[in-house]
Amino acid sequence: MHEGAIAEGILTVALDHMNRNKGKVIGEVGLKLGELSGVEEYALRTAWQVVTRGTAAEKAVLVIDRVPLAGRCRSCDRERLIGKEIREAAGLMEPVYGPSLVPYSFICPVCGEPLEVVSGREMQVDYLDID
Ligand SMILES: [Zn+2]
Repeated sequence: MHEGAIAEGILTVALDHMNRNKGKVIGEVGLKLGELSGVEEYALRTAWQVVTRGTAAEKAVLVIDRVPLAGRCRSCDRERLIGKEIREAAGLMEPVYGPSLVPYSFICPVCGEPLEVVSGREMQVDYLDID
C-alpha cells in the first residue's frame, strides 16, 4: 500500500468537502480503517503530516477508528470476529494489525463452513470537522 497516495486521497476528499461548505480550516478527520485494509497506521500518519503541510488541513487531527475483521457464516448466519479467539489464546488483548503475527481463521468454528468477510477491509473517511 502507498500511504502517501492514500493520505493525498483523504486530503482531497476533506478539502472538497470544506470548499463546498465554505469552510476555512479542517480540525479533525475521522477515518475508518479495517484490520485487513493493508494500511500501516504509522506510515499513514507520517504521510498525512507531509501532504497537509501548507494546506487548510495542516493542523487537522487524524482520528483513526480501526475496524476489526469479521465474517459471516453462510450456514449458521452468525457473525464472528475472525482470529479473535486465536488472538486471545495467544494472550493478545489488542487486535493485531498489519502483517498478521497470528493466523486468521476464515472457517466457522461451529459449522466448518467458510466465513464471508463482512468488515475489516474499510478505508474510508467517516466524518470531517470543519470550521
Ligand atoms: Zn457457522
